[in-house]
Amino acid sequence: MSQKQYVVVWFRRDLRLADNPALAAALETGAELIPLYAHDPDGEAEWSEGAASRWWLHHSLKSLDTSLRSRGSRLLILSGNAKNLLMRLRMRRDIIGVYWNRRYEPDSIVRDKSIKTALLAKGVRARSFNGSLLHSPGSLFNKSETPYRVFTPFWKRIRNMETRDIAEAPKRLNPPKSWPKGLSVDSLRLLPEQNWDEGFYESWHPGEAEAMAKLRRFTSEHASDYAAARDFPGANGISRLSPHLHFGELSPAQVWSALDVETHESYLRQIGWREFSYYLLYHFPDTTASPMRKEFQSFPWNRDARLFEAWKRGRTGYPIVDAGMRELWRTGWMHNRVRMLTASFLVKSLLQPWQDGAEWFWETLVDADLANNTMGWQWVAGCGADAAPYFRIFNPITQGQRFDPEGDYTRKWLPELRDLPNAYLFKPWETPESEFKKAGITLGQDYPFPIVEHQAARAQALQAYQQMRDKS
Ligand code: FAD
Repeated sequence: MSQKQYVVVWFRRDLRLADNPALAAALETGAELIPLYAHDPDGEAEWSEGAASRWWLHHSLKSLDTSLRSRGSRLLILSGNAKNLLMRLRMRRDIIGVYWNRRYEPDSIVRDKSIKTALLAKGVRARSFNGSLLHSPGSLFNKSETPYRVFTPFWKRIRNMETRDIAEAPKRLNPPKSWPKGLSVDSLRLLPEQNWDEGFYESWHPGEAEAMAKLRRFTSEHASDYAAARDFPGANGISRLSPHLHFGELSPAQVWSALDVETHESYLRQIGWREFSYYLLYHFPDTTASPMRKEFQSFPWNRDARLFEAWKRGRTGYPIVDAGMRELWRTGWMHNRVRMLTASFLVKSLLQPWQDGAEWFWETLVDADLANNTMGWQWVAGCGADAAPYFRIFNPITQGQRFDPEGDYTRKWLPELRDLPNAYLFKPWETPESEFKKAGITLGQDYPFPIVEHQAARAQALQAYQQMRDKS
């Protein structure tokens, strides 16, 4: 083979070197290898990364570049329409192949198909791989040859399926002798202009090395207690791997191979939910905006900017809800139990459309993931596949008492309630004046009165549900 031939590895949501099928296949060609990141927010249509995810992406790209440099290579960064960038690169260099790991979001599928066709038409090998899921969603169907809509049979099916062998990160990467001109990560201006990311730096270290270290820590220290601890936001019982998995700094196959499904079923089941969410998104692509259960299209939501604002700012007057929303704002992340509670509060107690909540999460989560976020919100709203029934409405007081029994989590995010006794922490409006005095709190000033009364809000939600059912 001529020395002047190149292969491009197009990095996307697979910002890692280990267990990277596209990278491994590209290396096998023996051609000089150009690792590329094409910054193309327009190509993502309306679901380009939100502000918190862009923060993560910035640091993850830097980390990938550092890993590549330690192997004698680097990350070529270009910005613009991905198809044009690849075609232009091909005109300037003898590119014999472009290799990438597939993405499964609807807009990406359309874009990638058109890129593949254009490259193949020019005689360039365009090869794509599954690097981000355990199993390709297009290959699994239920007994009646239709897509699964219920998690349990889906889980039973994938639970015992073989997954691929994990490849180590390559030691050398066969870099080109001369590099095309590229951009710096900084020039992409991914970091927020306002200084709201301080808490992100305290909470996260994006990149493959940290993702692997975290997986190792979780498997050795916490995995065996996961089932018991996972629902308690104040406990250190979950893996916090979601942004690493979202950006592909770690693959689900790596997680799967680090644990045994017989002993760690409860944890690997969550990876199964991730698979299921991608599966649903793949087979039902319009669910990012429309409810899977069509009767919910006529749900009588009651859009109200004041209520929505109070929810976003963590000022609803329900401490467990407000703690979650403040954790989200400060760290770009929220515990799953609290995601369910805050989402339920917005959709059921405040009757705000789930799509509005999903958009706020999209903007503020470092792990914002189109598949998981869509499924999560539709699950809570009762309109998704295998969703929680709408009439099951979380009580924000008892949920707080049950899942944050000592109040550690709530006090951490609502320091103004720090000195309130446990008995009133989740219903501060019932606190006797003497206790307020002792704690130095004035309700309505230091912390808001509840914006809705729970029982009345619950009755209203059930009425709205009935109204929808009567119509359908
Ligand atoms: P762990 O409990 O340690 O689980 C390990 C991994 O399994 C997670 O990292 C995640 O990849 C996957 N997982 C866990 N729970 C779920 C679930 N319910 N659905 C799908 N996958 C799951 N997750 C995201 O990654 N991005 C999102 O944008 C997102 N939005 C959500 C919105 C709502 C309203 C709800 C209810 C859930 C959402 N989730 C989302 C799912 C879940 O809350 C997070 O994946 C989890 O809290 C991440 O923490 P962890 O990594 O410690 O999870």
